[in-house]
Amino acid sequence: MSTTTMMRALRLTEWETEPVVTAVPVPEPHGSEVLVEVAAAGLCRTDLHIMSSPAGAYPYALPFTLGHESAGRVAALGPEASGFDVGDPVVVYARWGCGTCWQCANGRDNACVRTRHGPHGAGLGRDGGLAEYLLVPSARYLVPAPGLDPVRAAPLADAALTSYHAVKLSLPQLHSKSTVVVIGVGGLGHMAVQVLKAITPARIVAVDVRDAALEMARVAGADVRLSAEGLTASDVRAETDPNGASVVLDFVGNGTTLALAAGSVAQGGDLTFVGRGGGELRVAPGLIPYETTVRMPTWGTVAELAEVVALATDGKIHSEAQVYELDDAVSAYGKLRQGEVLGRAVVLPASQRLTPVTPA
Ligand SMILES: [Zn+2]
Ligand SMILES: [Zn+2]
Repeated sequence: MSTTTMMRALRLTEWETEPVVTAVPVPEPHGSEVLVEVAAAGLCRTDLHIMSSPAGAYPYALPFTLGHESAGRVAALGPEASGFDVGDPVVVYARWGCGTCWQCANGRDNACVRTRHGPHGAGLGRDGGLAEYLLVPSARYLVPAPGLDPVRAAPLADAALTSYHAVKLSLPQLHSKSTVVVIGVGGLGHMAVQVLKAITPARIVAVDVRDAALEMARVAGADVRLSAEGLTASDVRAETDPNGASVVLDFVGNGTTLALAAGSVAQGGDLTFVGRGGGELRVAPGLIPYETTVRMPTWGTVAELAEVVALATDGKIHSEAQVYELDDAVSAYGKLRQGEVLGRAVVLPASQRLTPVTPA
């Protein structure tokens, strides 16, 4: 190419600052890489943690483009990439593993031992989807998503996938006699309630501080809604099961919610710590019931993303979204930080396409 085509991207250029919209070259796919034209990209609380962290907290080199929930169309394929055609609608799996370690060989890129210390994938130390185009290292990270609105499809890549993976790990506990508590009905939690409704017969108890989130939980299928304001573990047990809940999924993960989770889980139950709210969970006799399984999952697998996309295609799960332009992404992050986003904030990176561009 004689001239470099430029695009707009929301990039983190310094630690402990807001990201900025910058003009960068559109990448060209080499080898097995695939270029995806991003139609929609979700904003996540993890992004807030990354941008507010000091240098060294994350094993990522700056600058890079944020965005780990992306949906769009295949724009170009590297000479060794196959399995997709230009124009195919896809959701991008963002947790990019090494591809060859024992975990990756078993399809568990989310537990890749070589990339454990990062970078972790799209928007996680490598350029992500908050840009007009996203370069994906391999077609194996693409899940076909025909017929899905990209705004609904993008949050499937993390909000739905991570909650689906967490639910699936506890499936043996989620039978018709069990109760599951979902703490935090935000981007992930509202998907978790729907996933639970779609694939398990368990009774669902949703907990959140926000009335609007509890209303969203009701619509999503939660059987009981509890305001987190002053809520104790005894209150949860009184409203659910005196023996405690078979499964507690904490999508907040701060000190208060983890204490509530530890006090609410039944003996022999599952306590799943998903939210990265900065809390710590102490595991010791007397603090957690005996025979309790504590899990700290991260992401899910590519196969699970395909299962999530199938649930969405069948209309069994539906991501609530508030839509923003790329220029408004920083203010949308501010709303997310304040708890003012219901469901997922989703950005449309290509809606203000950069033509023509003066390279920076
Ligand atoms: Zn995320
Ligand atoms: Zn690996």
